[in-house]
Amino acid sequence: LSIQALGLRATAERHVQAAPPDAILGLTEAWKKDPNPLKVNLGVGIYKDDKGQTPVLPSVKTAEERLLATASTKTYMPIGGAPEYGKLVQALILGTDHPAIQENRIRTAQVPGGTGGLRVGADFLRKIRGGATVWVSRPTWANHKGIFEAAGFSVKEYAYYHAATRGLDEAGLLADLETIPAGDIVVLHVCCHNPSGVDLDAAQWEKVAAIAARKGWIPFLDFAYQGFGSGVEEDREGLLAMVRACPELLVSSSFSKNFGLYQERTGALSVIAANRAQADIAFSHIEIAIRVNYSNPPAHGGLIVTTILSDEVLTNQWLEELGAMRTRIAEVRRQFVLALKNQGIATDFSFINRQKGMFSFSGLSDEQVAFLREKKSIYIVKGGRISVAGITSQNIDYLCQSLAEVLNG
Ligand code: PMP
Repeated sequence: LSIQALGLRATAERHVQAAPPDAILGLTEAWKKDPNPLKVNLGVGIYKDDKGQTPVLPSVKTAEERLLATASTKTYMPIGGAPEYGKLVQALILGTDHPAIQENRIRTAQVPGGTGGLRVGADFLRKIRGGATVWVSRPTWANHKGIFEAAGFSVKEYAYYHAATRGLDEAGLLADLETIPAGDIVVLHVCCHNPSGVDLDAAQWEKVAAIAARKGWIPFLDFAYQGFGSGVEEDREGLLAMVRACPELLVSSSFSKNFGLYQERTGALSVIAANRAQADIAFSHIEIAIRVNYSNPPAHGGLIVTTILSDEVLTNQWLEELGAMRTRIAEVRRQFVLALKNQGIATDFSFINRQKGMFSFSGLSDEQVAFLREKKSIYIVKGGRISVAGITSQNIDYLCQSLAEVLNG
């Protein structure tokens, strides 16, 4: 196969540029190449411990040892993955005795990561609601737009973040959600909003759920950080409010962060329908979307999650390990705010303590972000999103001194 056969020569003649590198993953590549020993990476959304490492969780190691000892085949998974995994995921996202589970109107597919869940969900929705518009928050995780556009949707934004208060633009959000017509699709972050760290409280979720029910748009809930905000149960509050109000919705779960399974591509797509028959119909279309895409999911990550969640001792161990990650992030936020204050920076950064999850909108301008990268080897995504988990006791002083230089002029 020559390049010519691929038609690339023809495109080169038309001066088509190479595709741009991914902004966030590209930043890590640049950071890796930086020889400065003081360099700090606050770009990519990966949990890091105080040593700057992302070790395999001990509960995951134990599960893998068991799997290695007992595995007898590598034959294909079913199209929608292991049914047992689906049941365990449903209990994790909704709680064991949730009515949607008891009424048998939820179905779950094992998919390659949260990205896989979003893309399979997008392909499914495109088939049944082809002309709909997909709405995402302003701002949102950069890949949301790409995923839904790749599935053929046009994507629009609803108001979300309020720069002046560094909190939620509640009035703007509710007003925009009111304008979205029935049948359109609205992507909502269940917790630990990426990139702002600004979440809805219980009362705000109730308002959003009431609008969804009245207007009849389809909620697509992105649940990528369950347990990273306030706890596994607390973090599902918004999802439960939406399920109470809306007979039909989709949920994409990622286990990249909360199980630390990033490279194992472990996620789930759940569909909740009005009744059992409709859930079966929806799931049959989801299976078709999977079949023509990657046929059936990678098994290993799902087997790890199944091993942990089906064993009470391992589940409790995992919950403790997850709690330790959550506590460290909250503690880093506190120390960061304090250290910035101690540097004599006039700006009040206490809002960082109110934000949830791995990310924080720092309020740094693109010029300040560029200065920090070029002069200080501190890597922050354009737009000023900081991955708080990248801050350690080793780099916090250097980081805050450098920020003081930028902010105090
Ligand atoms: N949704 C959001 C909001 C995310 O932040 C991420 C991961 N950065 C994903 C989905 C995708 O997760 P995964 O790595 O499991 O595909």
